[in-house]
Amino acid sequence: MQIGFIGLGNMGGPMSANLAKAGHAVTGFDTADVEIEGVTRAASAAEAAAGRDVVITMLPNGAILRAVAEDVIPAMHTGSVFLDCSTVDVESARSVADAAEKAGLLPLDAPVSGGIGGAQGGTLTFMVGGSDAAFAKAKPLFDIMGQKAVHCGPSGNGQAAKICNNMILGATMIVTCEAFALADKLGLDRQAMFDVVSTSSGYSWSMNAYCPAPGIGPQSPADNGYKPGFAADLMLKDLRLSQQAAETADADTPMGQAAMELYARFVEQEDGAGRDFSAMLPRFEKRGRG
Ligand code: NAD
Repeated sequence: MQIGFIGLGNMGGPMSANLAKAGHAVTGFDTADVEIEGVTRAASAAEAAAGRDVVITMLPNGAILRAVAEDVIPAMHTGSVFLDCSTVDVESARSVADAAEKAGLLPLDAPVSGGIGGAQGGTLTFMVGGSDAAFAKAKPLFDIMGQKAVHCGPSGNGQAAKICNNMILGATMIVTCEAFALADKLGLDRQAMFDVVSTSSGYSWSMNAYCPAPGIGPQSPADNGYKPGFAADLMLKDLRLSQQAAETADADTPMGQAAMELYARFVEQEDGAGRDFSAMLPRFEKRGRG
């Protein structure tokens, strides 16, 4: 396939490289000066998109996606796929999909989980919103860049799935860290705590697969000085998107709201910026109730 790829950062870089490695002709564009192996560079987003079968975007936020879409959509031909893999607000996803559909394109919103490691290894999970026809056309590309693609319904539903998932993740990581800090103060050994919780009803991905306590459970960023991994800043971004969506949809999400406020404090006023999101544990270790 002829593929245009816009946004060649930490995620888009390796994703585009994997598509090129698999034999697709990939033309890329990024406002930063980046070289990706196997990817031909274009001088603009519109140039990267012109005449391609599929255009993929992997951009920082909804405002940038909307601006890029304005340039890219008119350059694309009828029946081609506009595949946005960025994490953005549901409204931006739906408005870009509307504009693409009106132009005769097949839009998909397909945010990912799996992080930079998943992008490099081609093991991402895609949560996809859009039509059956668009999903079927993009499926071979999901199979290269990832290990799973779940079709979640019409446009915007991929973003909805992503922010609901990450709202659960943010809240469970916080309470897992709180529980370790409480266990310390109660004199409960961390290994014993892990052995019980990871096989009892308190188990979760945060505890079992990404344990925030160094030296306990499987290898995780806690074993590497809390170097991300999944940065607390990105968790804050996703929690803010979840609360923006909750506001728009009039949904009551008090745990998501509390998680957002804690990550905001951690990133903006404490030492959380640039650290893994599981570094909430050393934060709680230092604190008492006051
Ligand atoms: P990044 O900042 O490394 O990459 C974004 C790239 O977009 C940058 O290279 C930037 O120069 C480029 N860019 C910005 N404006 C542009 C424009 N107008 N035209 C072309 N290029 C432009 O970010 P990332 O970590 O690759 O994340 C990309 C998206 O994936 C985000 O929406 C993020 O929330 C999501 N995501 C990231 C992770 C992760 O672990 N990094 C995990 C899941 C989802």
